[in-house]
Amino acid sequence: MIEKLMEAQTKIYSPSRLKHMKVLVVGLARSGVAACRVLRQLGSIVKATDIKPAEALGSIPEKLDELGVAMQLGEHGVEFASDCDLIVVSPGVPLDIPLLKWAEGSGIPIIGEVELAWCLSDARFIAVTGTNGKSTTVSLIGDILRLSTPKVRVGGNIGNPISAIAAGLGRDWIVVAEVSSFQLDTCITFRPTVSVLLNITPDHLDRYASFDAYFQSKARIFANQTQGDIAIVNLDDPRCTEAAHGAKCSNLFFSTTREAEEGAFIKDDTVVVRVADIEREIFSIRDLRIRGPHNLANSLAATLATIVLDTEASLVRKAIREFRGLEHRMEFVCEIDGVEFINDSKATNPEAVRFAIEGTDRPVVLIAGGKDKGSDFSILIEPIRANVKAAVLIGEARAKMRQVLEGECKIYEARDMVEAVRKAYDLARPFGTVLLSPACASFDMFDDFEHRGKVFKQAVEGLKR
Ligand code: ADP
Repeated sequence: MIEKLMEAQTKIYSPSRLKHMKVLVVGLARSGVAACRVLRQLGSIVKATDIKPAEALGSIPEKLDELGVAMQLGEHGVEFASDCDLIVVSPGVPLDIPLLKWAEGSGIPIIGEVELAWCLSDARFIAVTGTNGKSTTVSLIGDILRLSTPKVRVGGNIGNPISAIAAGLGRDWIVVAEVSSFQLDTCITFRPTVSVLLNITPDHLDRYASFDAYFQSKARIFANQTQGDIAIVNLDDPRCTEAAHGAKCSNLFFSTTREAEEGAFIKDDTVVVRVADIEREIFSIRDLRIRGPHNLANSLAATLATIVLDTEASLVRKAIREFRGLEHRMEFVCEIDGVEFINDSKATNPEAVRFAIEGTDRPVVLIAGGKDKGSDFSILIEPIRANVKAAVLIGEARAKMRQVLEGECKIYEARDMVEAVRKAYDLARPFGTVLLSPACASFDMFDDFEHRGKVFKQAVEGLKR
């Protein structure tokens, strides 16, 4: 299949064009700093701005200064931006801030880090999007591909900005990119060879005007794909199949519940891939180490994405058998006196929590809550009724969650993670699961989901003492 995918690529900016441009980078977290670096390496004149003052940016201003990047920090002034030819915006920056509205009105093009990476690289891209499962799936795809070629790089939220890993790579490289809806909003010509749409459920409704707007963003992953490219789509999620309707490339589907005409599915506990009427058995579902129905879906998507690039089934099977999942995603922490502890701190929306509860065999004591993203917690009622014996709520969303979940299980509140873990442990005895799966963002009590997960694990360690 691979030869079909070698068509010429269209890019809005070539490196030689970018080299002569004045570029403003907006937002100076990891992605913005990486953009400054690759653009300076290319020779572009680069300015950067962040709404945070210098003191809040640690060593970043010093690093950018060394790179020869002029900065405006603590504000986003229009005057500072007025001589720019192009704006590169970080995924964390809302597109409706006055500076970007002004740029739009003034005809200054705005792109994001994925479009920038695309322009600076000749590699083929496998782009993975969806509300949940992106990091897990790109990691697994990376692990599978690395068994047959060293020329693979994986990037996205998992810590490697896509522009940093992709810039300068030749056509023989593969970039596996985790692409959020925010990043898709700022793509223009980005055209992945293989796109993967895992699921679309309500999330980020604090930033999108409506669920439909969020849906439209996700569907943009297919926008520039054409004949010879491949879209891999979740057949079990009607929103995904709807989004793929407009795709102009070949569609392949994955399903954990039924046979796909073309794609990956399960037959007698075996994962099977059927493409062009050829059916191949790839691995047994018992080979999987990662828990839950959602992770089975992720592994089907990863299998398909690698099989279409001619990866041997035996290599897929080997990687699947070895893949233990990522930290903070259904991560088994330990068992203490018959109670197991699972850290699913990355579950920042209700859908991820639903799968976490469904992926747990024992009665669950759920630790949830945090900063609400405008979510509808009522989808948790059914799974909680079925398998949760108590919930310990933390953070700002406590009251809203209690209101929705009252009566479905016993509900307690805790002021901090240590108190929550102690309480949950008592409630889960003698044989249960304490599951941290918050359904909310972490920023009310923690730096980020990683910090939240680490504090949870420390609190669990504390129980042993
Ligand atoms: P993302 O990068 O999209 O945030 P992760 O792989 O980091 O995805 O997982 C985020 C959360 O979603 C975790 O709690 C994980 O257990 C859960 N999750 C993973 N895959 C799926 C899926 N396919 N559907 C629903 N939830 C999922």
